Amino acid sequence: MIEVIQTISHMHQVADQLRNAGDRVGLVPTMGYLHEGHLSLITRALEDANQVVVSIFVNPTQFGPKEDLAAYPRDLDRDLDLIEKAGAKFAYVPEVEEVYPEGFATYVNVEGLTDNLCGISRPEHFKGVTTIVSKLFAAVKPHLAVFGQKDAQQVLVIQRMVRDLNFDVEVVVAPTVREADGVAKSSRNVYLTPEERQDAPALYRALQKGKALIEAGVRDPEEVVRTMRAMINATPYGQIDYVEAVDMDQLAPMSALSGQVLLAVAVYFGKARLIDNVWVEVPRKTPS
Ligand code: AMP
Repeated sequence: MIEVIQTISHMHQVADQLRNAGDRVGLVPTMGYLHEGHLSLITRALEDANQVVVSIFVNPTQFGPKEDLAAYPRDLDRDLDLIEKAGAKFAYVPEVEEVYPEGFATYVNVEGLTDNLCGISRPEHFKGVTTIVSKLFAAVKPHLAVFGQKDAQQVLVIQRMVRDLNFDVEVVVAPTVREADGVAKSSRNVYLTPEERQDAPALYRALQKGKALIEAGVRDPEEVVRTMRAMINATPYGQIDYVEAVDMDQLAPMSALSGQVLLAVAVYFGKARLIDNVWVEVPRKTPS
């Protein structure tokens, strides 16, 4: 049976019991409405941890004032069933008032890395993410936490936070799980109309094309971005937020592609904003 934990004090109790029993605890943070992408993170966590806590919390501080907080899809009963089937024994499902009580005033913010890509159209988003992830680490006391590559900037921001604040938590990154046509699984895909859904594979197709160009020797980021933009612009419904080819460490533009490159896209389809990315290793030129 899955144990549903709703308060921080109960979560602390369970966390201490697990640690005292010598268990290795894995955390999988989610906003619920689970799909196979989330379940793959639970499976990944169980490879390195014998007890897994899945948190479900639609975190208000990571949504902008005009974003989809109220409309965000929810189905707790189904989620709990899926978590149990995936092999995790604990679900941490706190209420908003438990996490952000009256008078709450402390935030965690990673500078620099949060300024571009999703940080431009979602200026407060990552501050909300790093704050809630810090609070989840404090509540669950995990040895490791698993995050999806799907949210690549989030992964980099959390890795930086863990390093800078000396959290004793191993950050594990799991690959993006996709539909058969390449669309990255996302709770937000339910927002898509059938017509928009038909256009959605353009994101991954563009990313693959960008990767193929780089693998064929293209080193000009402009050329890669231009080709990717054209492919997404060719769809009737997709409205580009950004298409970027940036350096993976700093998320900064490069004059020539080299080292670890992140190709990342964010595209609006009506009220849905979909993101996707691929990572490409470009051999560095060795000085001759
Ligand atoms: P969310 O519920 O959307 O906040 O996502 C919770 C976690 O699941 C994050 O670490 C995401 O990166 C990860 N995730 C979301 N979609 C996918 C996917 N398609 N494949 C792998 N992980 C995913």
